Amino acid sequence: MKAPAFAYARASSVDNAIELLSQHGERAKVLSGGQSLMPAMNLRLLAPELLVDIGALDELRGITRQNGVLSIGALARHVDLQNSPLITTHAPLLKEAIAHVAHPAIRNRGTIGGSLAHADPASELPACVIALDATIVVRGPAGERRIAAEDFFVGIYETVLSAEELLVAVEVPLPPSNATHYFCEFARRHGDYAIVGLAAQAVVDHGKFAELRPVFFGVGDKAVQVKVPALLGADVTPKALSEALQTLAEALDPPEDQQASGAMRRHLSKVLLARCVAKLLSRPDLATLEPA
Ligand SMILES: Cc1cc2nc3c(=O)[nH]c(=O)nc-3n(C[C@H](O)[C@H](O)[C@H](O)COP(=O)(O)OP(=O)(O)OC[C@H]3O[C@@H](n4cnc5c(N)ncnc54)[C@H](O)[C@@H]3O)c2cc1C
Repeated sequence: MKAPAFAYARASSVDNAIELLSQHGERAKVLSGGQSLMPAMNLRLLAPELLVDIGALDELRGITRQNGVLSIGALARHVDLQNSPLITTHAPLLKEAIAHVAHPAIRNRGTIGGSLAHADPASELPACVIALDATIVVRGPAGERRIAAEDFFVGIYETVLSAEELLVAVEVPLPPSNATHYFCEFARRHGDYAIVGLAAQAVVDHGKFAELRPVFFGVGDKAVQVKVPALLGADVTPKALSEALQTLAEALDPPEDQQASGAMRRHLSKVLLARCVAKLLSRPDLATLEPA
């Protein structure tokens, strides 16, 4: 199938893009890498009257380190994140996650801004930016808004972005030197969307978690950050881990689809959390704990 007819405008600046979006409202769509938008149009799931192509806006492209944050332009492609020494040093969780996003051809065009605005609940990057406590920077006719990543995602393919707004950047706070991370997902094949995945950022101090932000994806209508107080600030015993796994099981209400039942997703989430804790604390004994 081919996309229905649409008009096309190549934005000459961020202000010009916002002006075009304001004029056309819900009838327009931003075009970044096109790796989610164009398939949706070709399948006739979406039929915007106007595409506002922001691909030429170099001001949205860079990855820089300034004032204690890593600032990632919305047009940074997946491959740019993979190859960036700044990402490798300060946000290795993103680098590890991107290896699981689709395939090289898609990673060569898909962008972080497009991935976050698209808000697929099985997507890796929304979970990562929540785990990293990032801020999403948005510009619209009323100026700039800065939104905590955990407040940005609303539901399936839905964010707090209005039709007139552009996601312009993602800001990731520079982590402390003892920060560490974990990423793992279960998918039918490497590069497929996850059945269940976990992205976590942590601070480990003398064998204990000073911080742990585990964020699960593929388990609901958006990525879910789960608070696990039983694991913080004390030695993690098998009992404490069991308690955390129970908290996790109660926090999730995963959907059933052709790939997995809700019960299987809940079970896999517990397996991932146990493996995450075992790896980050270098405690292989905890990974072998049979999830309850
Ligand atoms: C075969 C295949 C497999 C894939 N597998 C995965 C996978 O495993 N994991 C995964 O996460 N993704 C996967 N993807 C999606 C891919 O990662 C996309 O690149 C990404 O989701 C969207 O980025 P994009 O730049 O291409 O956005 P586009 O397709 O251009 O846009 C996506 C949506 O976001 C909006 N948008 C884009 N940029 C902005 C902006 N700056 N401000 C406001 N709105 C904006 C668009 O209007 C559109 O609604 C897959 C895609 C394909 C085709």
